[in-house]
Amino acid sequence: MKIAIIGGGLSGLLCALMLEKRGYSPTIYERLPKVGGVLDSFKRKKVLFDVGFHYSGALAKNQYLYNSMESLDLLNKLKLQEYEGSFDTIYIDGEIFTIAESSVAFKEQLQKQFKDEHQNIENFFQKCYEASVISSKPENFVTIDSRSLQDVMVDIKNETLRKIFLHFTIFYATEFYEKASFDFYAKIFINMLDGTRKVEGGGGAIIKALTDSLLRTSIYKRSEVTKILQTSEGVSGLICNGEKVEYDAIISTVHPKVTMKMFDELDKKQTRYKKHIDALEESPSFFSIFCLIDAEIKLNMYFYEDEFISVLPSRTYEGKTVATILAGSYYSEYENLSKEEYKIKKEKECAYHLQRVQKLYNFGNIEVLDSSTPMTKQYYSNGCEGSIYGVLCSAKQKSLSVLMPRTRVKNLYFAGENIIAPGLIGAFLGAEILMNYFTKLED
Ligand SMILES: Cc1cc2nc3c(=O)[nH]c(=O)nc-3n(C[C@H](O)[C@H](O)[C@H](O)COP(=O)(O)OP(=O)(O)OC[C@H]3O[C@@H](n4cnc5c(N)ncnc54)[C@H](O)[C@@H]3O)c2cc1C
Repeated sequence: MKIAIIGGGLSGLLCALMLEKRGYSPTIYERLPKVGGVLDSFKRKKVLFDVGFHYSGALAKNQYLYNSMESLDLLNKLKLQEYEGSFDTIYIDGEIFTIAESSVAFKEQLQKQFKDEHQNIENFFQKCYEASVISSKPENFVTIDSRSLQDVMVDIKNETLRKIFLHFTIFYATEFYEKASFDFYAKIFINMLDGTRKVEGGGGAIIKALTDSLLRTSIYKRSEVTKILQTSEGVSGLICNGEKVEYDAIISTVHPKVTMKMFDELDKKQTRYKKHIDALEESPSFFSIFCLIDAEIKLNMYFYEDEFISVLPSRTYEGKTVATILAGSYYSEYENLSKEEYKIKKEKECAYHLQRVQKLYNFGNIEVLDSSTPMTKQYYSNGCEGSIYGVLCSAKQKSLSVLMPRTRVKNLYFAGENIIAPGLIGAFLGAEILMNYFTKLED
């Protein structure tokens, strides 16, 4: 069976490795000169930065990602790093809260702080524990939990406490997002509290571990797929760099809105399907500042007053903290600018966020080595409107069957951050669920 994978980001590489383990030899098409997509790392003045990735939950021994990485022989190629105690501090309603390092400790911390809500906190954690198991078994996807976070937080009345819980939606929605899918929230919430780790060398190290593991996958770089071909039997091939190549199955890790545009013709059922996909709401876009800060910063810092802003430390370099400052931004404000206007707008926005960070935290000197706008994310993923995590992980959208790996075009499958969920957890889970459709080949 000839299988093509469109996109050589985290999800494309993962799908290839999982297919290899099942006996297949897939081909990856990547439009950029490098694989890695948003998970890539890059250097400025010898300092290593990450396009996006900073940390992930579910990486403690025997948690979901740890086990998945171990079964793919990736763990022995990576060095996981624990935080010292906590991983996040959040600034809400004039106070700084440090998240305690385990779910039990965090629950107790909140129960001490919000005595009136003692039982509500107990109940909330209980519901989160019940939904926290991450599993790619088909039976776990038959009944889809359509509850939103708002539905489950209904008894919690204290506004500050609600905001503390809502902080955990930052990892796939940005800012407080009550309409988040509760099912995914619970998985992130508990698995982060009990198993957040950094990876030495950042996202680039994960990409290297994956590419080093691929033995029977062909990878074509600078190879943008422009068309997907189908007959009445389903997908039949694709067009890349003007050349037509035949395939029995295609996995697209590219945004589903972009993927569905690659068909010249769709039947009635598929046209309806495309309409549903085109109507999906995107997560917001963002601005990043890649800098060296003259201060020791160990924990990720999130500030939630007026406008959201965060400072995410990655590593140290010559005694300084290598960090990314991340703030909300608007794709629409950049998309139609001339080169000169774009440069001016980017400089202005960078200066604005820097001044906000300095005012809030009063760090020493901050040396900016680079910055990126919503157009940069668009460049790395070829997705939609530079949205930070692709399709928004809302309860409503995640309970729609349009976002599953199997599509309405026979032998076309979806994987990637837009399908099940974004991030390392979403990419692994999406790829593993997809593998249920590929039978293991005999040796
Ligand atoms: C700022 C930021 C911070 C983040 N922080 C974290 C974090 O701390 N922890 C975490 O777990 N996750 C984090 N994430 C999310 C995580 O990085 C992504 O969800 C994940 O890397 C997405 O991988 P992907 O393969 O699905 O998509 P992508 O990385 O977007 O890969 C898609 C690939 O397809 C290629 N492509 C597109 N169109 C075509 C075409 N027509 N033909 C051929 N190739 C094509 C693209 O060039 C790209 O390489 C963060 C994301 C951002 C933006």
